[in-house]
Amino acid sequence: MSDDALRDLLDAVGADAVVTRPESIEAYRRDWTGDASAGMPRAVVRPRTAEQVQATMRWASAHGIPVVPRGAGSGLSGGSLAVEGGVTLSLDRMRAIDIDPDTRTAVVEPGALNAEVKAAAAAFGLWYPPDPSSFEICSIGGNVATNAGGLCCVKYGVTTDYVLGLDVVLADGTLVRLGGKRIKDVAGLPLLKLFVGSEGTLGVVTRATLRLIPRQEPAATLVATFTDVRSAAEAVVAIGARLRPSMLELMDRASINAVEDYRPMGLDRTVGALLLAQSDAAGGICSAEVQAMESVCRAAGASECFTTDDPQEGEQFARARRDAFPAIERLGSLLLEDVGVPIPLLPDLLGGIEAIATRHAVRIPVVAHAGDGNTHPIIVHDAADPDSVARARAAFDEVMALAISLGGTITGEHGVGRLKKGALPDQLGPHVMALTRRIKDALDPAGILNPGAIL
Ligand SMILES: Cc1cc2nc3c(=O)[nH]c(=O)nc-3n(C[C@H](O)[C@H](O)[C@H](O)COP(=O)(O)OP(=O)(O)OC[C@H]3O[C@@H](n4cnc5c(N)ncnc54)[C@H](O)[C@@H]3O)c2cc1C
Repeated sequence: MSDDALRDLLDAVGADAVVTRPESIEAYRRDWTGDASAGMPRAVVRPRTAEQVQATMRWASAHGIPVVPRGAGSGLSGGSLAVEGGVTLSLDRMRAIDIDPDTRTAVVEPGALNAEVKAAAAAFGLWYPPDPSSFEICSIGGNVATNAGGLCCVKYGVTTDYVLGLDVVLADGTLVRLGGKRIKDVAGLPLLKLFVGSEGTLGVVTRATLRLIPRQEPAATLVATFTDVRSAAEAVVAIGARLRPSMLELMDRASINAVEDYRPMGLDRTVGALLLAQSDAAGGICSAEVQAMESVCRAAGASECFTTDDPQEGEQFARARRDAFPAIERLGSLLLEDVGVPIPLLPDLLGGIEAIATRHAVRIPVVAHAGDGNTHPIIVHDAADPDSVARARAAFDEVMALAISLGGTITGEHGVGRLKKGALPDQLGPHVMALTRRIKDALDPAGILNPGAIL
């Protein structure tokens, strides 16, 4: 980027919105993957208004400069890694939240954290369900751009199920307003949903209108332990076929031990796997639903079952599950998978992952949003040892190929980003890849929006 172009940017958005000092830029280069291939952007723009986002995109269009939209940088697929010499557009200063209890909606700027939206809704007795484990550190803009999932999605769905409206700034700086506070609206092509999950490659979200629902009932909790992962997965399949848990998570022995080392809470380190299930069924029947899940787990061979009606005790187990990523991070460098399959094939997926770990002599602890068939095998390796890196990469590719062979997906919620795009054609095939390219070219003909992500 020339000095003249940089001066134009400062004129367009104002000097106080532009960061150019390399020491300050450093914090905006990577996402949670810490990927070393991140480029060094020439500038970071931190707008306070949608007009500043529009000005940035008009300027980038005129100069042909790549722009990487960025939320809170908690992404796990390299979606917001900086591009060398480009601009990172950080939405972290746009954080307004406006709750409308009459329409049960929240109008939210993209930099607001998921947890802040939940808290604002709770003040009106309302609830914003999507709950990535990272809910305290990820932004709504990032959630919309990745169509984030989480722990309660097994019952309540994912981010897109709560997006009623979006303001999006396109590559040329045009602001389009899609949807709104209307529950039903089928006017025109369903463009709103095109932007949910588009990972910053089609436009920049500057405002989201989110659907809220009445506060969740207090949940009852079941923790069931199993001698092996396969029988835990078979219990998941049986629960999914008959019951409607509000949470159904799996942790294998390696992840249980990592969490116990990180923040001990007395989980049994010797079991093969545990299931964490909750029911928030209304009308006081959540305990009955938890008991039904316990029966299913016992029939599937659970070695021990523990149940509680105390929501706080249940939340402690959920916290242990949410701790899994930071806990496993302490074991070494990580390659994070996000593969998913139709629920009945979960035992085959988990069995196959164990075989891949053995074949490549790598450790692959697994945590899973098991009730969705969505798993996070986490490949632990030594980044300083080329042989360990090569084995980890081979295992990473094989896990994705396994998911595809089972009719599954390479990513259930984290997005393709930069780390998984090599496997995308294998899942989508040439026709869907070509269609994806045509849509990208129509909306961003110069290819300046998040180049290198997805495609
Ligand atoms: C400990 C931990 C646990 C996690 N658990 C979960 C989980 O349970 N479920 C889940 O789905 N994810 C999970 N994640 C992943 C991550 O938190 C989500 O992908 C989240 O949605 C990313 O939000 P962010 O604000 O950090 O976005 P970033 O990482 O900054 O960006 C992610 C993507 O969104 C794009 N983007 C960001 N803001 C905008 C915008 N305003 N307009 C257009 N594009 C934008 C970026 O370009 C990038 O492609 C976890 C991460 C961590 C670290």
